[in-house]
Amino acid sequence: MTSITTNNSSHNIRRRSLEQKIKYETLLLDGATGTELERRGVDISLPLWSARAILDAPEVLMQIHLDYLLAGADIITTNTFRTHRHNLALSGIGGQAKSMTQQAVAIAQKAVRLSNNTSAFVAGSIAPLGDSYKPSNTLSENILEEEHGLMSNILVSSGVDLILVETMNTIVEAEIATRAAISTGCPTFISLVCDRDGSLLSGESLSAATTLLLPLEPHAILLNCTSATDVLSTLQKLRQYTCLPIGVYANVGYLNEDKNWIQTKAVEPDYYAKCALRWNEAGATLIGGCCGTRPDHIATLRNVFPCKN
Ligand SMILES: [Zn+2]
Repeated sequence: MTSITTNNSSHNIRRRSLEQKIKYETLLLDGATGTELERRGVDISLPLWSARAILDAPEVLMQIHLDYLLAGADIITTNTFRTHRHNLALSGIGGQAKSMTQQAVAIAQKAVRLSNNTSAFVAGSIAPLGDSYKPSNTLSENILEEEHGLMSNILVSSGVDLILVETMNTIVEAEIATRAAISTGCPTFISLVCDRDGSLLSGESLSAATTLLLPLEPHAILLNCTSATDVLSTLQKLRQYTCLPIGVYANVGYLNEDKNWIQTKAVEPDYYAKCALRWNEAGATLIGGCCGTRPDHIATLRNVFPCKN
C-alpha cells in the first residue's frame, strides 16, 4: 500500500505542477512520432502504423522521445495513437492492446528518466478510431465509448500525467473520448483537426465543437494536424470561444483533395518557429509539432520560447 500511496501522491504533485504551469507558462510539446519513426527506417505501414514500433523498434521509439526532451520539450506524447483494441484487432492482435499501451507509456517514461528532466510530463495520446482525415469513417457511439473508455483507463493506470485527446475530426468522437478521459480524473487536453476554413474535418463548426466540449471542463484545447501555414485564423477563432489555455501543433505539409497528407519540406524549423511566434501572439501557450516535424523544430521553438527554469 505504501508504494501506491507514494505513487498517488507523486502523481498529484505532478498534476498540480502541470495545472500551474499551463496557467502561467508557454509549454512545448514534442514533434511527430510516426513520421520520425519512418525517417529513422522503422516500418509504419498500415494498419499497425506507428504501433509497430512498440513491438519491433522500442529503442528507436525511446530515442525519439529522448531527442524531443533533449531538444526542450516539456511534454512528450505516448506512441498510443494506434493501440486501441479495435485498431490492433485489424492486425489480429487486439488482445495486446493493454500490454502495448502500457509498454508505450513505459517507453516514454524511460525517456523522461534518461533525459534528467524529470519535470517533463508524459501525455497519453487518444486518437480517433478511424482514419484521422476521413471523418465519415467514424464508428458507432457504443464502440467509441467502449474503446476510448478502455484506453483512458489503461493510460491512467500506466501513470501518464495527462491525457491528450488528439486529432479529433468529429464532435461526437471528441466528446465521447473527452468524457472518457476526464472521467478518470486525469488532466485532459483536447486537440481538434480542422480544415483550412476553420471547421472540423467533418464540416462541423469550431464554435459548435467548443460549445459541446467546454462544459466537460478540459484543461486546454488545441489544434493539430493542420498546416502550419494555415492554422492561425482558426486559432484566432478558438481564442474567441474560450479562456482556457489553447495551443497548436501543426503539420509541415497539407491535405490533398482525397484527404491524404502530403509531406513538404517547405516549412523548415526557422519558418515553423516564426509561425509559432504568431500563434503565441494569438494566445497559444501550448506549442509543438505534428506530422513531419522533427527534434530540430522543437529545439528551434525552445530558442524562441526559452525555458523559465
Ligand atoms: Zn499530424
